[in-house]
Amino acid sequence: MNKIVVKFGGSNLKTREDIQKIVATIKMYDRPLVIVVSAFYGITNYLSEGIRTVQNDDKHIREMISYVKTMKAETIEENISDQNAKEEAYRLISKRLDQVERFLLGIHYIGDIPNFIQDKILSYGEKLSSLLLSIILKYNGIDAMEFLPEDMGLYTDGEFRNATIDFERSEALVREALKEDRVYVVPGFYGISEEGKVTLLGRGGSDYSAAGIARCIHAESLDIWKDVNGFMSADPKMVKKPVRVSKLSYTEAAELSYFGAKILHPRTVEPLEDMEIPVRIFNIDARERTLKPLSLISRRGETGKMPAKSVSCSDDFAILRISGAGVGLKPGILARVTSCLDSKSINIKSVVTAQTAINLYLESADLRRAGQLIKELNMKTITHVTEIDDMAIVALVGAGIPHEPGTADRMLKALAQKKIQTRIVSIGASDVASYVVVKRDDRKQAVRAIHKEFFEGDES
Ligand code: ASP
Ligand code: MG
Repeated sequence: MNKIVVKFGGSNLKTREDIQKIVATIKMYDRPLVIVVSAFYGITNYLSEGIRTVQNDDKHIREMISYVKTMKAETIEENISDQNAKEEAYRLISKRLDQVERFLLGIHYIGDIPNFIQDKILSYGEKLSSLLLSIILKYNGIDAMEFLPEDMGLYTDGEFRNATIDFERSEALVREALKEDRVYVVPGFYGISEEGKVTLLGRGGSDYSAAGIARCIHAESLDIWKDVNGFMSADPKMVKKPVRVSKLSYTEAAELSYFGAKILHPRTVEPLEDMEIPVRIFNIDARERTLKPLSLISRRGETGKMPAKSVSCSDDFAILRISGAGVGLKPGILARVTSCLDSKSINIKSVVTAQTAINLYLESADLRRAGQLIKELNMKTITHVTEIDDMAIVALVGAGIPHEPGTADRMLKALAQKKIQTRIVSIGASDVASYVVVKRDDRKQAVRAIHKEFFEGDES
């Protein structure tokens, strides 16, 4: 019987009661599993800010270690009552934290944060979760064992912070490592480079690790537990009555995540699609916790009467506008600009060009640096580089949307009726998505207007 890969994220590791919910969920499966865990809620950010402080302030090392220790101690006290088992748990956690402490000291002494140490330290967020969860599962009578990516051979392309899994190297190794009929607990978020260095899989990347492992072991499914009701027709914080999207195709899920739906990392479906491994999404806080998924992502998805499935929005998005009289037609400009950004690992989300301007969509955090880099290229054809950081992107996703006559029209009319100005529009960039760029302050109104038009009947 093929195993199921079950993923618990930071949102399932937030409160005191959370570990018991996870234990109960794992018992409900009652079969061999591979569990992939994230760091406790907020810990990755805490570690990532902490290492910057530690560079110049060695006192902060003690503060960090004791903060994490206290957090883990609370979990141990809450979940283990036997004295000997408790002491063993403390011993194992302390041993792992000693390793973190040594790396932090290293940063302080060299006064710098080399990429490989940064990735190594951040991976401890998940490595503390996997260790603790495996101890608690064993204490609850489950045949569980922690298994680390470095020990199973989960290899990547070696890019720090944003690596890609190397399936050719990893598949057979991982499958062999996880072959016993038991419960394995694996820390998400990283794999190792050819030289054996920890490489992170991008922020929020433990969904992607779980998907990678699911591919390697030919899992029956990838089950992702959340604290919300799966994919919805819009963010429930933005619209009053969103409807649940119970079936999606891989492409729809990828596009929705890309355009801001927080539920899944956009790369999750990548390793699964050609093998047709379904992703099932559950809510650990559901009134009745069952193994019936709230949203199912598979090859088929579902085509109802209407192609629109959901409207999502992202404001982690900025535009770098590169202007000049002939930038659109002059050969080689885009190539120079994009290879310059690529050489500094700046990701370009999209490009929209006209004869006098090239618009690069970037992540907000990269905008300033990207602007500077382009100015430093000193290209004669470029007369202005403008940084635009007050925009948001609002997308309507569903198989066939760009081909359905009138969809774009309805989307734009809905916005116009609310007097929301659209700055850039893209219909058909992918077969399942159309989007508009609006002022960041207008994004909530824009989501509401489009949601109303497509999911709440006539606006009358
Ligand atoms: N802990 C990592 C992060 O916060 C990975 C994850 O949660 O998926 O980015
Ligand atoms: Mg996540």
